[in-house]
Amino acid sequence: MTTTLERLLRYVKIDTQADENSSTYPSTLKQLELSRLLEQECRDMGLENVECNQYGIVTAIVPSTVDHPSPKIAWVAHVDTSPEFSSENVNPIVHEDYQGEDIVLPNVPERIIKVEENPDLKKLIGTTIITTDGTTLLGGDDKAGIAIIMSAAKYLLDHPEISHGPICLCFTCDEEIGHGTDYIDIEKMDCQCAYTLDGGGAAEIDSETFSADVAIVTVKGVNTHPSIGYGDLVNAIKLLSHFIDQLPHDSLSPETTKGRDGFVHPYHIEGSVAEASVRIILRDFETEKLKRQADLLESIAEKIRKENPRAEISIEIQEQYRNLREGLKKEPRALPKAIEATKNAGLEPIQSIIRGGTDGSILTEKGLPTPNLSSGQHNPHSPLEWASLSQMESAVDVLVELAKLWGIEKN
Ligand SMILES: [Zn+2]
Repeated sequence: MTTTLERLLRYVKIDTQADENSSTYPSTLKQLELSRLLEQECRDMGLENVECNQYGIVTAIVPSTVDHPSPKIAWVAHVDTSPEFSSENVNPIVHEDYQGEDIVLPNVPERIIKVEENPDLKKLIGTTIITTDGTTLLGGDDKAGIAIIMSAAKYLLDHPEISHGPICLCFTCDEEIGHGTDYIDIEKMDCQCAYTLDGGGAAEIDSETFSADVAIVTVKGVNTHPSIGYGDLVNAIKLLSHFIDQLPHDSLSPETTKGRDGFVHPYHIEGSVAEASVRIILRDFETEKLKRQADLLESIAEKIRKENPRAEISIEIQEQYRNLREGLKKEPRALPKAIEATKNAGLEPIQSIIRGGTDGSILTEKGLPTPNLSSGQHNPHSPLEWASLSQMESAVDVLVELAKLWGIEKN
């Protein structure tokens, strides 16, 4: 028998860091190593229709145990880890019977997981915590999710007396760089709704995400040799800096907002005298407010155009994803069943909102309603990342309860 802990430890040791500068899919071929391992484990376990497509997306089916046609649901997690910190040679450390102390990471002792900054730790005394040795991230985001899904599937296979409908397992690549759903065939999956196992802590059900666009502001100047620049040279770098400086400082910024307030956030800049550009993410829980944010950028651009008629300033807006809330309405049972399953697993459900997006935001927009569930992960993308085994085990219980609740439904 392999336990949820053994699975997590096995998966995190495979380096699956995504690379946003790559032009391949998956962005790093090493992700396929975990995809193929999962494919094999799904086959060994006895799941049906096991497949790993050419892009590394693994799907498999837990067959229905009920006689009536019952809605098919999906459980989704991602194999890749964040480009923000290394996941090479992850050396997970298992702290059994944790006693509530700050956790010093042995290979980099100045890296300390402090109880003060991680209040969940206080609730986890006597349980098992998994951390890094301080040199890498852990990859509990989202290998905790994968371990939970695999354990729940195994549990259902081992307990055919539990009534449930068909369940599709789906493991994706490149979620961390916004491409987790590029090669998921929603029609082929043919599910009523899906659940991503990619949330923090326990018992949380994320039913809202930001709506998101990105703006690319490009300034074209006039470049001459500086020696003959008099009256001719128009410096794109200076004009773009001026543009950025006019963005709100005290509001509408990630550093000054929380809860339901959105923001406009420049995150990448490049350029020279002739041309300079900045990428700015636009975020709000209300999709129509993104338009207001874009209007704000346009008004700044217009002012600079008037002052500098020889410069060209263009703003291109690209849609990224939309608040989950909208698309969840298509399957009104998706959320209530997650809440009920959480209660049935003995937990107090917490409905929450994410100041970001998930694979679920995009799946939902593509027509597959997909809330996000807790998976026991904490401090993602960081060497201070940790995972709670007891929270992961409770997430397995939630999935089993969810399977039962959907099994009652008839198509
Ligand atoms: Zn994740």
